[in-house]
Amino acid sequence: MVKLMDLCDYAPVYIRSIAPYQPGKPISELARELGLNEADIVKLASNENPLGISPKAAAAIPAAIGELARYPDGSGYELKQALGSKLGVTASSIVLGNGSNDVLEMAARAFLAPGLKAVYAQHAFAVYPLATQACGAIGVEVPARDYGHDLAGMLRAIDQDTRVVFIANPNNPTGTFVAPGEMHAFLRQVPAGVLVVLDEAYQEYLPAELRADSVAWLSEFPNLVITRTFSKIYGLAGLRLGYALAHERVADLMNRVRQPFNANSIALVAAVAALNDEAFIQRSRDVNFEGMAYLTEGFKRLELTYIPSQGNFISVRVGDGAEVFRRLLKRGVIVRPIAGYGLPQHLRVTIGMPTENERLLRALEDSLHE
Ligand SMILES: *Cc1c(COP(=O)(O)O)cnc(C)c1O
Repeated sequence: MVKLMDLCDYAPVYIRSIAPYQPGKPISELARELGLNEADIVKLASNENPLGISPKAAAAIPAAIGELARYPDGSGYELKQALGSKLGVTASSIVLGNGSNDVLEMAARAFLAPGLKAVYAQHAFAVYPLATQACGAIGVEVPARDYGHDLAGMLRAIDQDTRVVFIANPNNPTGTFVAPGEMHAFLRQVPAGVLVVLDEAYQEYLPAELRADSVAWLSEFPNLVITRTFSKIYGLAGLRLGYALAHERVADLMNRVRQPFNANSIALVAAVAALNDEAFIQRSRDVNFEGMAYLTEGFKRLELTYIPSQGNFISVRVGDGAEVFRRLLKRGVIVRPIAGYGLPQHLRVTIGMPTENERLLRALEDSLHE
């Protein structure tokens, strides 16, 4: 009989060496550990919308419950129609995912294989190296410039084995942003045989003057994939829904590696409703903008430096990130240590509601003086 140890040794070495993704600590877990009420815990760790779910999405969900015995619409017809008319794209250029993580993985699986390469930046979103490694491909990490993407360096890193470039704009966990003009100039220089995955999970948080019509670039660059999510400004992180926009032929390839029913029925219905909840989106943007101003003022008062962010989060330099993280936990505040992103001196803080931001600042001040 083969022992389990031996069995696992047969898994490809590139799978066995994957470092598992570290999610934010759940509220329920810290409540158990500290013997606290869940209501007394502030979680600013996973860039969720502090306003909660879009009211229109919440109102649409009960009607979907009656249909749960049936499989979801595997083509996501209604949502693709809604996205298509909002964004001006055809349904066949949209790929739906179980979260945008799912579509990022589909892009990797459709274009990467052992021996091929993906290029991404230092301090970039953790899913890019994970998805690359799961395909047995080689990840090429390009050193950051001022914590952000060095696009010239990324261009130089592309060689004949490169098939994918991942760019988050704004980036998580740094919040850095590449201006539309620079991004467009970059796209013009990337070889046509290299897929550029432009991850716009935080696009809706950008102030109008920074927001590019990146969707219009799709007709100019058939090698561009734009990914977006319902997990952030739309407040549906728990339902898992994201999407990719791509040239129809690229979308077709991605759909071939997609699980047939990856987007669930409730998520599909809630997303259609959330998509057009303009009042909620605007309120979410306002809450974020005010919270960002409040926190950056607070950090200045505490003489802490931070990386200016265009997302719904901000990374602040606290010295020993792991230690300050633990001190904040003791005070019932969960943030995100980002040593795994090469930033051991920083903590990433999601912008919360005013009372949550106040709790964070007070706990941070206490932690620094402990
Ligand atoms: C949060 C986030 C996502 C979205 O993940 P989902 O799977 O859609 O919840 C994608 N990219 C980045 C950079 C993110 O920070």
